[in-house]
Amino acid sequence: MLSCPRCQANIKPTAINCPRCRLALKAHGHPGIPLHRTEGDEALCATCLYDADDSCNFPQRPHAETCTLYRSVKAAEDLAVPSLSVGQRVNFWLRNHRGLIGLAGLLLLSLAIVLVR
Ligand code: SF4
Ligand SMILES: [Zn+2]
Repeated sequence: MLSCPRCQANIKPTAINCPRCRLALKAHGHPGIPLHRTEGDEALCATCLYDADDSCNFPQRPHAETCTLYRSVKAAEDLAVPSLSVGQRVNFWLRNHRGLIGLAGLLLLSLAIVLVR
């Protein structure tokens, strides 16, 4: 169960306000718009992907304490696809192009038969 960041009361995931302290938990009074809130003294922008890539034009940047668009740099890094080694890339390509490899094999076999005759 989720808890209120201010008073730690148990809250439902769709709660718009905390039932105990009335802290706003969703933006614009809509249960589908999460309102991200800073924890501690650091502004949200310090760990936001849109601040890191300089694509945010919100007026509250870089001191936002609440934000609807916040996206953690850490979460984006966690979702990033790890880079593959050359061997893994070749193996991946070979597995995904079996038909082409079979066709090339048939062409080489046909060429070998023609040359032997
Ligand atoms: S999206 Fe919000 S948290 Fe992110 S940089 Fe812009 S204002 Fe800051
Ligand atoms: Zn509360």
